Amino acid sequence: MTAIARLLDALLPHDCYACGAHAGRDMLCRDCLQSLPQLPGERCPQCALPSPHGQLCGACLRDAPHYDASLARWAYEFPIREMVQALKYQARLAMAPWMARALADLEPPPEADCLIALPLHPARLAERGFNQSVEIARDLARHWGLPLVIDACVKDRMVEPQAKLPWKARRKNIRGAFRCLEGMSGQRIVVVDDVMTTGATLDEFAKTLKQRGAVHVTNVVIARTLPG
Ligand SMILES: [Zn+2]
Ligand SMILES: [Zn+2]
Repeated sequence: MTAIARLLDALLPHDCYACGAHAGRDMLCRDCLQSLPQLPGERCPQCALPSPHGQLCGACLRDAPHYDASLARWAYEFPIREMVQALKYQARLAMAPWMARALADLEPPPEADCLIALPLHPARLAERGFNQSVEIARDLARHWGLPLVIDACVKDRMVEPQAKLPWKARRKNIRGAFRCLEGMSGQRIVVVDDVMTTGATLDEFAKTLKQRGAVHVTNVVIARTLPG
């Protein structure tokens, strides 16, 4: 069913997801494509937040995250926010290849050995039926010619949804949530996720990968939440 829905979504003409105008086979019409929420050009290479001259930002200098780099495609605002939510909560799976292509068109492949999608807890996976980050990572891996490693890492602890918590509580909430079932010795890993907000979840995951021997972790996300 999923495969059929995906195929139909790819073949049939769409109305623009943002404004309802005719969009041909794309998700968005030409006008909406041209007014997507861009991130500022100068960003911190480690956390992808705005930073003058693209230098390492104060926060990363003070309290360095475990990941080494972050690439983000858009700001987490209309209509990207609604599209990410449609993928996740309404199973609009055709959003995933669209997003992966947009990422691949913008960014050259990072120097890495493999892609790993941020794991979902098995209970959440059962409820949703898919991991949106795996859906995005699968197409991205193909565009970049890198292997996607599935099932090497798990999220074994159910945590409070990060979105419900104040920013400061998120790091504590996610601590110890992930586990690697395989060694990651010497690996340069690209971690794929949909949205990067505080970065606390990705930091915890990078910490887990590095504890198992990973030498370099690059986050690749569809959207970055910009501070207020
Ligand atoms: Zn439109
Ligand atoms: Zn930074």
